Amino acid sequence: MPQNPGSKLAIVGAGSVGTSLAYAALIRGSASTVALFDVNAAKAEAEVLDLAHGTQFTAAAATVAGGGDIAAIDGADVVVITAGAKQAPGQTRLDLAGTNVRILEKLMPQLLAHAPDAVYVLVTNPCDVLTVAAQQISGLAPARIFSSGTVLDTSRLRWLLARQAGVSVTSVHASMVGEHGDTEFPIWSGATIGPVPIRQWMVEGARIFSPEYLAGTAREVMQAAYKVIAGKGATNYAIGLSGARIVEALLRSENAVLPVSTVLDGQYGISGVALSLPSIVGNGGVRAVLDTPMNDGELASLHHSADTLQQALATLGI
Ligand code: NAD
Repeated sequence: MPQNPGSKLAIVGAGSVGTSLAYAALIRGSASTVALFDVNAAKAEAEVLDLAHGTQFTAAAATVAGGGDIAAIDGADVVVITAGAKQAPGQTRLDLAGTNVRILEKLMPQLLAHAPDAVYVLVTNPCDVLTVAAQQISGLAPARIFSSGTVLDTSRLRWLLARQAGVSVTSVHASMVGEHGDTEFPIWSGATIGPVPIRQWMVEGARIFSPEYLAGTAREVMQAAYKVIAGKGATNYAIGLSGARIVEALLRSENAVLPVSTVLDGQYGISGVALSLPSIVGNGGVRAVLDTPMNDGELASLHHSADTLQQALATLGI
């Protein structure tokens, strides 16, 4: 895939997620410059060196820069924020909120001073709550400061369905929406494999996607992060790839439909809460949140997600 010439991706936080995003972006040629910044300067500098040492073999020649000086992000077109505390085994994403909101309060003004024209993508959890906090701190339009939301969860969903159906993951059209967390859910009513509604998909004459099977799959997606974190302490590769995909949609003005999380303004009767819905991502950020058809059960789930996030925001005084 071609690079966008002159495009700069800045990644804040050179931990598991930030470095996996950098690695994915370099291999995919997502940007011409990838800059890392972390308060742990020694770690950031070492990560930059290690990544730079591999650029002979990446998709296209790209510059890798950065370290412990925030000036590394100067003039970035896209800033992805991965800085902050991560989930401990068994901890929910909402448990992290207070610590990471405080980090953002200090960080956002500094980032804006160095990259005033960037689009900001939050990955740090709980990403929906932090999106509202960051939007309020920065005063940026919601379209320019959003989170990766359920882009990762949607990839997990499609992978599970594709494996079961025996088709390519790119032929599965289904989305997780709502909170990037315990109240997220799939929009089954619109899900298809190729053009076939998911509930009608047949294997050897039988409809394999029964209501029970679909409910189990939704649960498996929701619990996926807990499983990975229990085994290896973090999730990083799939979120790195998901982040790189979002960056490409922005830098290449793709107008790609991705389930990112934006502060809503009346969609489905929800305002002031950020949650994920299929949205058009392109030049300048989120160009539209789509009015995706949902059945009554799905609408109820969406409002349950919004209420949960609203309560978390209220607890934090946001
Ligand atoms: P990590 O601990 O490996 O890395 C976090 C990094 O942030 C550390 O290197 C730390 O030094 C740095 N940092 C802390 N405060 C900073 C500041 N003020 N400025 C710059 N850097 C700072 O954690 P991780 O595994 O990379 O996870 C990062 C975050 O991403 C966590 O909140 C995690 O829950 C979240 N995450 C989100 C998703 C998603 O889909 N949204 C997926 C995976 C992880």
